Amino acid sequence: MTGQLSDKKELTWQEWEKMENDNTVLVDLREEVVYHHGSIPGAVCIPLRCFAEEKEKLPKDKCIVVFCQRGEKSLQVVEELRKEGWQAYHLEGGFLRWLIDHAKEVNMERYSRHVLLDEVGQEGQEKLLASKVLVVGAGGLGAPVALYLAAAGVGTIGIVDADVVELSNLQRQIIHNTSRLGQKKVDSAKETIELLNPDVTVKTYAMRLTPENIGDLIKEYDFVVDGVDNFETKFLINDACVLAGKPFCHGGILRFQGQVMTYVPGQGPCYRCIFEEIPEQGSVPNCSEAGVIGVMAGIIGCVQGLETIKYLLGIGRLLTGRMVVFDGLNLTFREVKFGKAIPTCKVCGEHPEIKDVKAEAWRYESHGICTLH
Ligand SMILES: [Zn+2]
Repeated sequence: MTGQLSDKKELTWQEWEKMENDNTVLVDLREEVVYHHGSIPGAVCIPLRCFAEEKEKLPKDKCIVVFCQRGEKSLQVVEELRKEGWQAYHLEGGFLRWLIDHAKEVNMERYSRHVLLDEVGQEGQEKLLASKVLVVGAGGLGAPVALYLAAAGVGTIGIVDADVVELSNLQRQIIHNTSRLGQKKVDSAKETIELLNPDVTVKTYAMRLTPENIGDLIKEYDFVVDGVDNFETKFLINDACVLAGKPFCHGGILRFQGQVMTYVPGQGPCYRCIFEEIPEQGSVPNCSEAGVIGVMAGIIGCVQGLETIKYLLGIGRLLTGRMVVFDGLNLTFREVKFGKAIPTCKVCGEHPEIKDVKAEAWRYESHGICTLH
């Protein structure tokens, strides 16, 4: 079978896998105790120290493939065997190469439904694993976003939230559970994500986002998700992201309504282009005053998660220059088109008033109408 391979002495484990089992004998040259701890399936153990005596048992009409730990000692064995008339090869990189490559394969199995997609593939999955996303708020929106990004294998997820888990959160904040009541939301979220996907590194920030800390926080991330329901923080996220040239996805829910929009620098309006200023106290209720169906947070959070993944992979058409408005009672998705950025916008316009969120902290002071949901 191996006429075309006979000049070389090495085989990759993939080449070996393609060979017909019936015609080959795979030999593990490592010590028996190591062999029993784990070896390549189908290998027989003949430790190097007794190989000289034991090799006579090996059939001369079959191809002998030997391997050691790293593929160094096995090369000498191949030369010895060939001199004595066997058709022999050794595995390049030895057991370790097989183990590392095999571990990678197992890893990708988790993402096999991603890898099957032409738009993702192994390359896209590796991109996700190398990506960093900051989720602001581990509440109704942040919970599904963080869960789906973690399941998708976004390699680093930062979570900002100053609150602890309360009983009234559990109707929609599905990353937490009853046993975590009183625990910091960021710690509870981290625990859930680590159980779901150990490939993900979770960085926790048990603090409120402020004009002072936001710059340092968003700096190290590729994308930001706005999962808060107070306008001060929404405007703060917008302004800081615009000024830092950082893309983000806005999401909001109230009663049976939800909305999502994505900002990418240079591609359409920002949140302030559309909403201009923080609403006056009492003019817009929040979820703790008006209520919300929990699953509404799930739907809008999932749309935000999808936008994040699309941005990271560079696929599809993002919600830039348009907003999708979801009506849960009538089950409709409506698209509101905005087109370009507004030239008079105070942060992204032609003559911006806002140039540094730290210097203009007063803009984001609480109007006392909303809390993180
Ligand atoms: Zn703007």
